[in-house]
Amino acid sequence: MDDAVFNEENGQLTIPTDRSLIQLNEICRTYDVGTDPQPVLHQVSLSVTRGQSCAIVGSSGSGKSTLLNIIGLLDQPTSGHILLDGQDITHASPEARAITRNQTIGFVFQSFNLLPRLSALDNVALPLLYRGYERQAARRAAQREIERVGLAKRAHYIPADLSGGQRQRVAIARALIGKPALLLADEPTGNLDSGTAKEILSLLLSLNREQGVTLVVVTHDERMAQQMQRCLRVEDGRLHES
Ligand code: ADP
Ligand code: MG
Repeated sequence: MDDAVFNEENGQLTIPTDRSLIQLNEICRTYDVGTDPQPVLHQVSLSVTRGQSCAIVGSSGSGKSTLLNIIGLLDQPTSGHILLDGQDITHASPEARAITRNQTIGFVFQSFNLLPRLSALDNVALPLLYRGYERQAARRAAQREIERVGLAKRAHYIPADLSGGQRQRVAIARALIGKPALLLADEPTGNLDSGTAKEILSLLLSLNREQGVTLVVVTHDERMAQQMQRCLRVEDGRLHES
C-alpha cells in the first residue's frame, strides 16, 4: 500500500501494486430476503491480470451471475473491495461507476439484450452515442465492429430477423465497440445450439488471443471452460481455482 495515491478530486485511491485488471478483496454479498439475510458470496478474493481468459463455473444458483455482476459494476458487494485497473471503485459514485463501465467493460448476456426496434448496426452504435459521439461517427465505428464479427451483410436487420448466433454476434460487437479492456459474458452460449455455441466460443477466444481482450465467461459448458487459461468454481459461496 506504500505507493497508494489518493486523488482528492474524485476521492478514489489508486494502488499501483501488481498489473491486476480485476482485483477482488474479500468480497461478501448477502441478499436480504424477508427477514433472513441470505449469504451468496463469502470472502471471495481474486486477481485477474490483463490478457487472461477465465471461466467461472458452478451449479445453478451458486452465485456465478452475482459474482460477474459485481465485477461488471452492475451490483455492489455487501462488504469487501473491488479494484479495476488498480483503482478502488467499491464506493465510487453511480456516475463514476457508469463511466468506468462504459469505458472499461463490455458485457454479454445469455439473452442478448438487444433493443428490438433498432437495427443490428444501431444496437452496436449505442454505447458510443452514450459517450456523446455524433450519430454518423458512431455508425461508422459500428459498421467496422459488425464486420469484425462477420455480420456485414446483416447490419440493417432488426434482431427478430437474425438467428440466435447472429444476435449474440451483434451483442458481442456492441460490447466491444468502446474498446473495453475487459469482456464479461454470462452464459453467452446458453441459448444456442452446440454448433453455434462453438462459433461464438471461437470468436471470444480469438478476441482474447489476437486482441488481448481480458475475458471472464460464466459457463455451464465444460468444453468452453477447458479452453480458458483459468477455471474458477463458485461453490458454497466460495471461489476455488482448478
Ligand atoms: P447463478 O448465476 O450461479 O445461477 P445467481 O448469482 O444468479 O446464481 O444467484 C445466486 C443465489 O442468489 C441464488 O440462490 C439466487 O436465488 C439468489 N439471488 C440472486 N439474485 C437475487 C436477488 N436480487 N434477491 C434475492 N436473492 C437473489
Ligand atoms: Mg446466472
